[in-house]
Amino acid sequence: RGGTAEREVPFAKPGSLTRVYAVASGKGGVGKSSVTVNLAAAMAADGLKVGVVDADIYGHSVPRMLGADGKPTQVENMIMPPSANGVKVISIGMFTPGNAPVVWRGPMLHRALQQFLADVFWGDLDVLLLDLPPGTGDIAISVAQLVPNAEILVVTTPQQAAAEVAERAGSIAVQTHQKIVGVVENMSGLPCPHCDEMVDVFGTGGGQKVAEGLTKTTGAQVPVLGSIPIDVRLREGGDEGKPVVLSDPDSPAGSALRAIAGKL
Ligand code: ADP
Repeated sequence: RGGTAEREVPFAKPGSLTRVYAVASGKGGVGKSSVTVNLAAAMAADGLKVGVVDADIYGHSVPRMLGADGKPTQVENMIMPPSANGVKVISIGMFTPGNAPVVWRGPMLHRALQQFLADVFWGDLDVLLLDLPPGTGDIAISVAQLVPNAEILVVTTPQQAAAEVAERAGSIAVQTHQKIVGVVENMSGLPCPHCDEMVDVFGTGGGQKVAEGLTKTTGAQVPVLGSIPIDVRLREGGDEGKPVVLSDPDSPAGSALRAIAGKL
């Protein structure tokens, strides 16, 4: 909207009733987007009005996981987001042709996020989830500037090396004065399909380690909100655009994710 003043971000206004969670991770592939999408779908199934901003600009994958194949439409000068499984969603992938890569620098990313937050018609949301890119980059800083009241949810695997990186990503909350709502440990063991034993593919203790580390650095109690096992149904649900919390809510991953959603 060249020339006009930037619209205010409604979620940042004092008195906004929308809870905003920025889902962060240290590195990619730990299940950050899967967690975001499933928490959103679980909360929508509970009757909440939920939106997701796919702020993982370079690695956008939320629409596919959520089964949102619709395109945004423009009504007057607002963008109407498509919705799927009860969740409104916007992603940069909806504005790039085909599978074209996004090759942008910080200021462009900031502008895109600003538009996603202010120029998209979200209506009165109960919850807005932001799927951040992995690490501590430009977008995390932009989120802190645009929605200072956004609380950070840190996703890690149980692996010690992954936990260290995740802790670093979470600790930007100190500089940005944001609250960390808690830590989710994902890929917490694989229940053996042949016996009852748990195979700790990625070790143990990462979630606890991140929560303790962030409690120390922030000076506020950071809880582990839950741990999600490795579950083929979670991966299949993501590939098929039907989040496991809906397709198989009582599966190990589905029930773990629903329990975490209930704490937010
Ligand atoms: P990130 O957003 O951190 O890069 P994704 O959510 O894209 O990670 O997950 C990476 C891959 O791992 C996806 O294919 C996803 O389906 C799969 N995955 C994530 N968590 C689990 C889990 N608990 N069990 C099985 N597969 C998982």
